[in-house]
Amino acid sequence: MKTDIVIVGTGVSGLYCALNLPRDKKIVMVTKADDDKSDSFLAQGGICVLKDENDYDSYFEDTMRAGHYENNKESVDIMIRSSRDVINDLVGYGVRFEKENGEFAYTKEGAHSTSRILFHEDITGKEITSHLLTSVKELDNVTIIENFTMVDIIEENNECFGIIGYGKDGKYIDIQADFTVFATGGIGGLYKHSTNYRHLTGDSLAIALNHNIKLQNIDYIQIHPTTLYSTKKGRRFLISESVRGEGAVLFNSHMERFVDELLPRDVVAKAIQEEMKKDNKPYVWLSMKPIPTEMIKSHFPNIYKHCLEEGYDVTKECIPVVPSQHYFMGGIKVDLSSKTSMNRLYAVGEISCNGVHGKNRLASNSLLESMVFAKRAAQAICGEIKTVTFDDTIKEADAALYANIEKLKEEYKKIVLDEIEREKQSH
Ligand SMILES: Cc1cc2nc3c(=O)[nH]c(=O)nc-3n(C[C@H](O)[C@H](O)[C@H](O)COP(=O)(O)OP(=O)(O)OC[C@H]3O[C@@H](n4cnc5c(N)ncnc54)[C@H](O)[C@@H]3O)c2cc1C
Repeated sequence: MKTDIVIVGTGVSGLYCALNLPRDKKIVMVTKADDDKSDSFLAQGGICVLKDENDYDSYFEDTMRAGHYENNKESVDIMIRSSRDVINDLVGYGVRFEKENGEFAYTKEGAHSTSRILFHEDITGKEITSHLLTSVKELDNVTIIENFTMVDIIEENNECFGIIGYGKDGKYIDIQADFTVFATGGIGGLYKHSTNYRHLTGDSLAIALNHNIKLQNIDYIQIHPTTLYSTKKGRRFLISESVRGEGAVLFNSHMERFVDELLPRDVVAKAIQEEMKKDNKPYVWLSMKPIPTEMIKSHFPNIYKHCLEEGYDVTKECIPVVPSQHYFMGGIKVDLSSKTSMNRLYAVGEISCNGVHGKNRLASNSLLESMVFAKRAAQAICGEIKTVTFDDTIKEADAALYANIEKLKEEYKKIVLDEIEREKQSH
Protein backbone atom coordinates (compact mmCIF):
# COMPACT_ATOMS: atom_id res chain seq x y z
CA MET A 1 0.00 0.00 0.00
CA LYS A 2 1.29 3.50 -0.79
CA THR A 3 0.14 6.76 0.79
CA ASP A 4 1.49 10.28 1.32
CA ILE A 5 1.50 10.22 5.12
CA VAL A 6 1.01 7.39 7.58
CA ILE A 7 0.09 8.22 11.18
CA VAL A 8 0.44 5.48 13.78
CA GLY A 9 -2.11 6.08 16.54
CA THR A 10 -5.60 7.57 16.80
CA GLY A 11 -5.31 9.42 20.11
CA VAL A 12 -5.47 13.24 20.31
CA SER A 13 -1.99 13.72 18.86
CA GLY A 14 -2.54 11.54 15.77
CA LEU A 15 -6.03 12.90 15.11
CA TYR A 16 -5.10 16.55 15.55
CA CYS A 17 -2.05 16.05 13.31
CA ALA A 18 -4.30 14.59 10.57
CA LEU A 19 -6.73 17.51 10.90
CA ASN A 20 -3.89 19.98 10.35
CA LEU A 21 -2.43 18.29 7.24
CA PRO A 22 -3.40 19.38 3.70
CA ARG A 23 -6.65 17.91 2.37
CA ASP A 24 -5.03 17.02 -0.97
CA LYS A 25 -2.65 14.53 0.69
CA LYS A 26 -3.60 10.92 1.21
CA ILE A 27 -3.33 9.96 4.89
CA VAL A 28 -3.56 6.49 6.39
CA MET A 29 -4.03 6.23 10.16
CA VAL A 30 -3.51 2.90 11.90
CA THR A 31 -4.33 1.88 15.44
CA LYS A 32 -3.51 -1.24 17.38
CA ALA A 33 -7.04 -1.56 18.79
CA ASP A 34 -10.44 0.01 17.99
CA ASP A 35 -10.09 3.68 17.09
CA ASP A 36 -11.63 4.84 20.38
CA LYS A 37 -9.35 2.71 22.58
CA SER A 38 -6.66 5.25 23.35
CA ASP A 39 -5.53 6.89 26.58
CA SER A 40 -6.78 10.17 25.17
CA PHE A 41 -10.32 8.90 25.76
CA LEU A 42 -9.46 8.23 29.42
CA ALA A 43 -8.27 11.72 30.39
CA GLN A 44 -10.39 12.93 33.26
CA GLY A 45 -9.14 16.14 34.82
CA GLY A 46 -8.91 18.55 31.92
CA ILE A 47 -6.70 20.64 29.69
CA CYS A 48 -4.61 23.64 30.71
CA VAL A 49 -4.85 26.98 28.99
CA LEU A 50 -3.25 30.37 29.42
CA LYS A 51 -6.22 32.16 30.98
CA ASP A 52 -4.90 35.64 30.30
CA GLU A 53 -1.56 37.35 29.83
CA ASN A 54 -1.26 37.96 33.60
CA ASP A 55 -1.10 34.20 34.19
CA TYR A 56 1.86 33.59 31.84
CA ASP A 57 4.66 33.81 34.43
CA SER A 58 2.80 31.73 36.97
CA TYR A 59 1.85 29.00 34.44
CA PHE A 60 5.46 28.91 33.17
CA GLU A 61 6.85 28.67 36.70
CA ASP A 62 4.36 25.95 37.76
CA THR A 63 5.34 23.84 34.71
CA MET A 64 9.06 24.34 35.39
CA ARG A 65 8.79 23.67 39.13
CA ALA A 66 6.82 20.45 38.57
CA GLY A 67 9.47 19.42 36.00
CA HIS A 68 12.31 20.03 38.49
CA TYR A 69 13.52 22.84 36.19
CA GLU A 70 14.77 20.24 33.69
CA ASN A 71 12.18 21.36 31.11
CA ASN A 72 13.10 22.78 27.72
CA LYS A 73 12.07 26.41 28.24
CA GLU A 74 11.40 27.00 24.54
CA SER A 75 8.98 24.05 24.42
CA VAL A 76 7.20 25.33 27.53
CA ASP A 77 6.87 28.82 26.04
CA ILE A 78 5.49 27.42 22.75
CA MET A 79 2.99 25.21 24.59
CA ILE A 80 1.68 28.03 26.76
CA ARG A 81 1.56 30.60 23.94
CA SER A 82 -0.27 28.16 21.61
CA SER A 83 -2.81 27.00 24.19
CA ARG A 84 -5.60 29.48 23.39
CA ASP A 85 -5.48 28.61 19.67
CA VAL A 86 -5.83 24.91 20.46
CA ILE A 87 -8.84 25.59 22.71
CA ASN A 88 -10.45 27.78 20.01
CA ASP A 89 -9.90 24.97 17.49
CA LEU A 90 -11.45 22.43 19.84
CA VAL A 91 -14.50 24.60 20.42
CA GLY A 92 -14.72 24.86 16.61
CA TYR A 93 -14.84 21.05 16.41
CA GLY A 94 -17.75 21.09 18.84
CA VAL A 95 -15.96 20.34 22.13
CA ARG A 96 -17.91 21.61 25.15
CA PHE A 97 -16.07 22.91 28.21
CA GLU A 98 -17.78 23.70 31.51
CA LYS A 99 -19.06 27.27 31.71
CA GLU A 100 -20.30 29.59 34.45
CA ASN A 101 -22.47 32.58 33.52
CA GLY A 102 -21.49 32.11 29.88
CA GLU A 103 -17.74 32.21 30.62
CA PHE A 104 -15.32 29.26 30.80
CA ALA A 105 -15.10 27.73 34.29
CA TYR A 106 -11.58 26.76 35.38
CA THR A 107 -10.53 24.09 37.84
CA LYS A 108 -7.26 23.43 39.63
CA GLU A 109 -5.02 20.38 40.09
CA GLY A 110 -1.92 19.59 42.12
CA ALA A 111 1.07 21.94 41.69
CA HIS A 112 -1.00 24.61 39.90
CA SER A 113 -0.92 27.89 41.77
CA THR A 114 -4.23 28.99 40.26
CA SER A 115 -7.28 27.53 38.50
CA ARG A 116 -6.45 27.38 34.77
CA ILE A 117 -7.80 24.00 33.65
CA LEU A 118 -10.77 23.64 31.31
CA PHE A 119 -12.85 20.51 31.78
CA HIS A 120 -15.96 18.62 30.74
CA GLU A 121 -17.30 16.84 33.82
CA ASP A 122 -14.59 14.24 34.57
CA ILE A 123 -14.50 12.92 31.00
CA THR A 124 -12.61 15.75 29.29
CA GLY A 125 -10.52 13.32 27.21
CA LYS A 126 -13.58 11.57 25.80
CA GLU A 127 -15.25 14.89 25.00
CA ILE A 128 -12.18 16.17 23.13
CA THR A 129 -11.07 12.96 21.41
CA SER A 130 -14.51 11.83 20.26
CA HIS A 131 -15.05 15.20 18.52
CA LEU A 132 -11.62 15.03 16.87
CA LEU A 133 -12.30 11.44 15.74
CA THR A 134 -15.67 12.41 14.26
CA SER A 135 -14.04 15.33 12.43
CA VAL A 136 -11.29 13.09 11.02
CA LYS A 137 -13.85 10.53 9.86
CA GLU A 138 -15.54 13.28 7.84
CA LEU A 139 -12.34 13.83 5.81
CA ASP A 140 -12.22 12.14 2.38
CA ASN A 141 -8.43 12.05 2.36
CA VAL A 142 -8.05 10.03 5.60
CA THR A 143 -8.44 6.25 5.92
CA ILE A 144 -8.40 4.71 9.40
CA ILE A 145 -7.29 1.09 9.75
CA GLU A 146 -8.22 -0.39 13.14
CA ASN A 147 -6.59 -3.39 14.83
CA PHE A 148 -3.35 -2.95 12.92
CA THR A 149 -0.10 -3.31 14.87
CA MET A 150 3.04 -1.62 13.58
CA VAL A 151 6.08 -3.80 14.19
CA ASP A 152 8.72 -1.98 12.18
CA ILE A 153 9.52 0.90 9.85
CA ILE A 154 10.82 0.78 6.29
CA GLU A 155 14.22 2.45 6.51
CA GLU A 156 17.14 3.15 4.24
CA ASN A 157 20.11 5.35 5.14
CA ASN A 158 18.37 6.98 8.09
CA GLU A 159 15.28 7.86 6.03
CA CYS A 160 11.85 6.48 6.86
CA PHE A 161 9.64 5.28 4.00
CA GLY A 162 6.67 3.99 5.97
CA ILE A 163 5.76 1.14 8.28
CA ILE A 164 5.26 -2.59 8.44
CA GLY A 165 2.57 -4.22 10.55
CA TYR A 166 -0.04 -6.90 10.80
CA GLY A 167 -3.81 -6.69 10.78
CA LYS A 168 -6.51 -8.64 12.58
CA ASP A 169 -5.98 -11.62 10.27
CA GLY A 170 -2.27 -11.76 11.21
CA LYS A 171 -1.21 -10.86 7.64
CA TYR A 172 1.71 -8.46 7.25
CA ILE A 173 1.27 -5.30 5.17
CA ASP A 174 3.71 -2.56 4.18
CA ILE A 175 2.35 0.95 4.23
CA GLN A 176 4.83 2.98 2.21
CA ALA A 177 4.69 6.71 2.80
CA ASP A 178 6.59 9.92 2.13
CA PHE A 179 6.21 10.80 5.82
CA THR A 180 5.57 8.74 8.92
CA VAL A 181 4.25 10.07 12.22
CA PHE A 182 4.47 8.04 15.43
CA ALA A 183 1.56 8.99 17.71
CA THR A 184 1.65 5.78 19.73
CA GLY A 185 1.06 7.13 23.24
CA GLY A 186 2.53 5.86 26.50
CA ILE A 187 4.16 2.70 27.79
CA GLY A 188 1.86 1.67 30.67
CA GLY A 189 1.20 -1.76 29.16
CA LEU A 190 4.75 -2.70 30.12
CA TYR A 191 3.91 -2.28 33.83
CA LYS A 192 1.85 -4.42 36.17
CA HIS A 193 0.03 -1.43 37.70
CA SER A 194 -0.82 1.35 35.28
CA THR A 195 -3.70 3.65 34.42
CA ASN A 196 -2.93 3.18 30.70
CA TYR A 197 -4.57 0.83 28.23
CA ARG A 198 -2.77 -2.51 28.28
CA HIS A 199 -2.05 -2.43 24.52
CA LEU A 200 0.16 0.67 24.90
CA THR A 201 3.50 -1.09 25.17
CA GLY A 202 5.92 1.44 23.69
CA ASP A 203 6.44 -0.55 20.46
CA SER A 204 7.80 2.50 18.68
CA LEU A 205 10.54 2.82 21.33
CA ALA A 206 11.74 -0.72 20.52
CA ILE A 207 11.60 0.12 16.81
CA ALA A 208 13.50 3.36 17.45
CA LEU A 209 16.18 1.50 19.40
CA ASN A 210 16.54 -1.06 16.60
CA HIS A 211 17.05 1.73 14.06
CA ASN A 212 19.33 4.02 16.12
CA ILE A 213 16.71 6.76 16.39
CA LYS A 214 17.58 9.06 19.29
CA LEU A 215 15.64 8.79 22.55
CA GLN A 216 15.58 11.16 25.52
CA ASN A 217 14.96 10.80 29.27
CA ILE A 218 13.31 7.42 28.89
CA ASP A 219 13.58 6.71 32.59
CA TYR A 220 11.36 9.73 33.38
CA ILE A 221 8.16 7.91 34.20
CA GLN A 222 5.35 9.47 36.17
CA ILE A 223 3.61 7.57 38.90
CA HIS A 224 0.09 8.85 39.61
CA PRO A 225 -0.43 9.09 43.37
CA THR A 226 -4.09 8.12 43.46
CA THR A 227 -5.58 5.18 41.57
CA LEU A 228 -8.32 3.06 43.05
CA TYR A 229 -6.80 0.08 44.85
CA SER A 230 -7.99 -3.21 43.38
CA THR A 231 -6.75 -6.77 43.13
CA LYS A 232 -8.44 -7.19 39.72
CA LYS A 233 -6.41 -7.61 36.51
CA GLY A 234 -6.30 -4.84 33.88
CA ARG A 235 -5.65 -1.14 34.08
CA ARG A 236 -6.04 0.83 37.30
CA PHE A 237 -8.87 3.37 37.61
CA LEU A 238 -7.61 6.91 38.07
CA ILE A 239 -8.91 9.16 40.79
CA SER A 240 -8.19 12.49 39.14
CA GLU A 241 -5.90 14.99 40.80
CA SER A 242 -8.67 17.55 40.51
CA VAL A 243 -10.57 15.85 43.36
CA ARG A 244 -7.64 16.89 45.57
CA GLY A 245 -7.70 20.28 43.85
CA GLU A 246 -11.31 20.59 44.98
CA GLY A 247 -10.54 19.56 48.59
CA ALA A 248 -10.16 15.77 48.89
CA VAL A 249 -7.59 14.67 51.50
CA LEU A 250 -5.34 11.66 52.14
CA PHE A 251 -5.15 9.62 55.35
CA ASN A 252 -2.89 6.81 56.54
CA SER A 253 -4.23 3.73 58.29
CA HIS A 254 -4.52 5.70 61.58
CA MET A 255 -6.68 8.27 59.76
CA GLU A 256 -3.96 10.92 60.06
CA ARG A 257 -3.11 13.29 57.21
CA PHE A 258 0.53 12.94 56.17
CA VAL A 259 1.16 15.17 53.13
CA ASP A 260 0.06 18.40 51.50
CA GLU A 261 -2.23 16.88 48.86
CA LEU A 262 -1.53 19.64 46.34
CA LEU A 263 2.21 19.13 46.04
CA PRO A 264 3.51 17.84 42.66
CA ARG A 265 2.59 14.27 41.74
CA ASP A 266 6.00 12.73 42.31
CA VAL A 267 6.18 14.21 45.83
CA VAL A 268 2.69 13.04 46.80
CA ALA A 269 3.29 9.56 45.28
CA LYS A 270 6.53 9.21 47.24
CA ALA A 271 4.83 10.25 50.49
CA ILE A 272 2.07 7.67 49.91
CA GLN A 273 4.58 4.91 49.17
CA GLU A 274 6.49 5.73 52.36
CA GLU A 275 3.28 5.69 54.39
CA MET A 276 2.21 2.34 52.88
CA LYS A 277 5.59 0.90 53.78
CA LYS A 278 5.44 2.27 57.34
CA ASP A 279 1.93 0.89 57.88
CA ASN A 280 2.61 -2.28 55.89
CA LYS A 281 -0.59 -1.69 53.85
CA PRO A 282 -1.12 -1.92 50.06
CA TYR A 283 -3.03 1.42 50.00
CA VAL A 284 -3.82 4.66 51.84
CA TRP A 285 -7.23 6.32 52.17
CA LEU A 286 -8.63 9.19 50.14
CA SER A 287 -11.59 11.12 51.48
CA MET A 288 -13.76 13.12 49.08
CA LYS A 289 -16.08 14.08 51.93
CA PRO A 290 -14.76 17.69 52.10
CA ILE A 291 -16.26 18.18 48.61
CA PRO A 292 -19.98 18.99 48.65
CA THR A 293 -22.08 16.00 47.50
CA GLU A 294 -23.70 17.99 44.69
CA MET A 295 -20.30 18.97 43.36
CA ILE A 296 -19.07 15.36 43.48
CA LYS A 297 -22.06 14.30 41.42
CA SER A 298 -21.82 17.14 38.88
CA HIS A 299 -18.03 17.56 38.50
CA PHE A 300 -16.95 13.94 39.06
CA PRO A 301 -19.90 11.79 37.91
CA ASN A 302 -17.67 9.14 36.32
CA ILE A 303 -15.52 8.70 39.43
CA TYR A 304 -18.64 8.67 41.61
CA LYS A 305 -20.28 6.00 39.44
CA HIS A 306 -17.18 3.84 39.06
CA CYS A 307 -16.48 3.83 42.81
CA LEU A 308 -20.13 2.93 43.51
CA GLU A 309 -19.74 -0.02 41.13
CA GLU A 310 -16.66 -1.06 43.11
CA GLY A 311 -18.65 -0.83 46.35
CA TYR A 312 -17.64 2.63 47.64
CA ASP A 313 -19.92 5.64 48.04
CA VAL A 314 -17.42 8.52 47.89
CA THR A 315 -19.95 10.97 49.31
CA LYS A 316 -20.00 8.95 52.55
CA GLU A 317 -16.78 6.96 52.88
CA CYS A 318 -13.06 6.93 52.13
CA ILE A 319 -11.69 4.93 49.21
CA PRO A 320 -8.40 2.96 49.14
CA VAL A 321 -5.87 4.45 46.71
CA VAL A 322 -2.45 3.38 45.51
CA PRO A 323 0.17 4.97 43.19
CA SER A 324 0.43 3.48 39.65
CA GLN A 325 2.46 4.08 36.49
CA HIS A 326 0.65 6.84 34.64
CA TYR A 327 2.64 8.92 32.19
CA PHE A 328 5.86 8.87 30.19
CA MET A 329 7.81 12.14 30.18
CA GLY A 330 10.68 10.78 28.11
CA GLY A 331 10.47 9.24 24.66
CA ILE A 332 11.63 9.61 21.10
CA LYS A 333 13.72 12.75 20.97
CA VAL A 334 12.18 15.42 18.76
CA ASP A 335 12.88 19.05 17.88
CA LEU A 336 10.39 21.88 18.26
CA SER A 337 8.65 20.72 15.05
CA SER A 338 8.36 17.14 16.39
CA LYS A 339 10.95 15.82 13.91
CA THR A 340 12.95 12.82 15.10
CA SER A 341 16.61 12.15 14.37
CA MET A 342 15.51 10.12 11.31
CA ASN A 343 14.52 11.90 8.09
CA ARG A 344 10.80 11.81 7.19
CA LEU A 345 9.91 10.49 10.64
CA TYR A 346 8.00 12.60 13.17
CA ALA A 347 6.83 11.70 16.69
CA VAL A 348 4.02 13.44 18.56
CA GLY A 349 2.10 13.09 21.82
CA GLU A 350 3.18 11.04 24.79
CA ILE A 351 5.70 8.89 22.89
CA SER A 352 7.71 11.96 21.87
CA CYS A 353 10.04 13.97 24.05
CA ASN A 354 10.56 17.64 23.29
CA GLY A 355 11.51 18.32 26.90
CA VAL A 356 8.34 20.26 27.73
CA HIS A 357 7.63 18.27 30.91
CA GLY A 358 11.19 18.04 32.23
CA LYS A 359 11.44 15.35 34.89
CA ASN A 360 7.79 15.41 35.91
CA ARG A 361 4.66 16.54 34.07
CA LEU A 362 2.41 19.20 35.50
CA ALA A 363 -1.17 17.88 35.64
CA SER A 364 -3.31 18.56 32.53
CA ASN A 365 -0.39 19.68 30.39
CA SER A 366 -0.30 16.51 28.29
CA LEU A 367 -3.46 16.79 26.18
CA LEU A 368 -2.41 20.35 25.43
CA GLU A 369 1.20 19.50 24.66
CA SER A 370 0.11 16.58 22.45
CA MET A 371 -2.01 18.87 20.30
CA VAL A 372 0.32 21.88 20.20
CA PHE A 373 3.24 19.81 18.92
CA ALA A 374 1.10 17.60 16.64
CA LYS A 375 0.02 20.76 14.82
CA ARG A 376 3.65 21.85 14.54
CA ALA A 377 4.51 18.43 13.06
CA ALA A 378 1.74 18.88 10.49
CA GLN A 379 3.06 22.35 9.62
CA ALA A 380 6.63 21.05 9.27
CA ILE A 381 5.47 18.18 7.04
CA CYS A 382 3.57 20.71 4.88
CA GLY A 383 6.82 22.64 4.48
CA GLU A 384 8.90 19.54 3.68
CA ILE A 385 6.40 17.79 1.44
CA LYS A 386 7.16 20.01 -1.52
CA THR A 387 10.78 18.96 -1.52
CA VAL A 388 10.63 15.16 -1.19
CA THR A 389 10.21 12.50 -3.83
CA PHE A 390 9.22 8.91 -3.21
CA ASP A 391 11.66 6.17 -4.18
CA ASP A 392 9.67 3.41 -5.89
CA THR A 393 12.59 1.04 -5.54
CA ILE A 394 12.05 0.56 -1.80
CA LYS A 395 11.98 -3.15 -1.16
CA GLU A 396 8.95 -4.87 0.33
CA ALA A 397 9.01 -6.10 3.92
CA ASP A 398 10.22 -9.58 4.65
CA ALA A 399 7.28 -10.90 6.71
CA ALA A 400 9.33 -13.91 7.78
CA LEU A 401 11.35 -11.60 10.04
CA TYR A 402 8.26 -11.00 12.17
CA ALA A 403 6.60 -14.39 11.89
CA ASN A 404 6.48 -15.20 15.60
CA ILE A 405 4.30 -12.39 16.94
CA GLU A 406 4.36 -13.50 20.59
CA LYS A 407 8.17 -13.79 20.58
CA LEU A 408 8.44 -10.37 18.95
CA LYS A 409 6.21 -8.81 21.65
CA GLU A 410 8.42 -10.25 24.38
CA GLU A 411 11.58 -9.10 22.60
CA TYR A 412 10.25 -5.55 22.19
CA LYS A 413 9.19 -5.42 25.84
CA LYS A 414 12.63 -6.55 26.96
CA ILE A 415 14.45 -4.11 24.67
CA VAL A 416 12.48 -1.18 26.11
CA LEU A 417 12.60 -2.16 29.79
CA ASP A 418 16.34 -2.92 29.57
CA GLU A 419 17.00 0.46 28.01
CA ILE A 420 14.94 2.24 30.70
CA GLU A 421 16.97 0.43 33.37
CA ARG A 422 20.24 1.25 31.61
CA GLU A 423 19.27 4.92 31.45
CA LYS A 424 18.31 4.89 35.15
CA GLN A 425 21.69 3.44 36.10
CA SER A 426 23.50 6.06 34.05
CA HIS A 427 22.46 8.95 36.38
C1 LIG B 1 -6.49 7.58 33.13
C2 LIG B 1 -5.79 8.75 32.50
C3 LIG B 1 -6.17 10.04 32.79
C4 LIG B 1 -5.52 11.13 32.21
N1 LIG B 1 -5.96 12.41 32.50
C5 LIG B 1 -5.39 13.45 31.83
C6 LIG B 1 -5.89 14.78 32.01
O1 LIG B 1 -6.86 15.02 32.75
N2 LIG B 1 -5.29 15.79 31.34
C7 LIG B 1 -4.21 15.59 30.50
O2 LIG B 1 -3.70 16.56 29.91
N3 LIG B 1 -3.74 14.34 30.31
C8 LIG B 1 -4.30 13.27 30.94
N4 LIG B 1 -3.81 12.02 30.73
C9 LIG B 1 -2.71 11.82 29.77
C10 LIG B 1 -3.21 11.96 28.34
O3 LIG B 1 -4.48 11.34 28.22
C11 LIG B 1 -2.24 11.28 27.37
O4 LIG B 1 -0.93 11.70 27.61
C12 LIG B 1 -2.58 11.68 25.94
O5 LIG B 1 -3.95 11.46 25.68
C13 LIG B 1 -1.72 10.90 24.97
O6 LIG B 1 -2.22 11.05 23.67
P1 LIG B 1 -1.48 10.33 22.49
O7 LIG B 1 -2.18 10.75 21.25
O8 LIG B 1 -0.03 10.58 22.59
O9 LIG B 1 -1.67 8.75 22.79
P2 LIG B 1 -2.95 7.84 23.02
O10 LIG B 1 -4.17 8.61 23.18
O11 LIG B 1 -2.62 6.87 24.09
O12 LIG B 1 -3.04 7.02 21.66
C14 LIG B 1 -2.05 6.09 21.29
C15 LIG B 1 -2.48 5.42 20.00
O13 LIG B 1 -1.40 4.68 19.46
C16 LIG B 1 -1.85 3.41 19.05
N5 LIG B 1 -0.70 2.48 19.03
C17 LIG B 1 0.21 2.24 20.01
N6 LIG B 1 1.13 1.34 19.58
C18 LIG B 1 0.78 1.01 18.33
C19 LIG B 1 1.31 0.11 17.36
N7 LIG B 1 2.40 -0.63 17.60
N8 LIG B 1 0.69 -0.01 16.16
C20 LIG B 1 -0.44 0.70 15.88
N9 LIG B 1 -0.99 1.58 16.76
C21 LIG B 1 -0.38 1.73 17.95
C22 LIG B 1 -2.92 3.08 20.06
O14 LIG B 1 -3.75 2.02 19.60
C23 LIG B 1 -3.62 4.42 20.16
O15 LIG B 1 -4.51 4.61 19.08
C24 LIG B 1 -4.45 10.91 31.32
C25 LIG B 1 -4.05 9.60 31.03
C26 LIG B 1 -4.70 8.52 31.60
C27 LIG B 1 -4.26 7.14 31.27
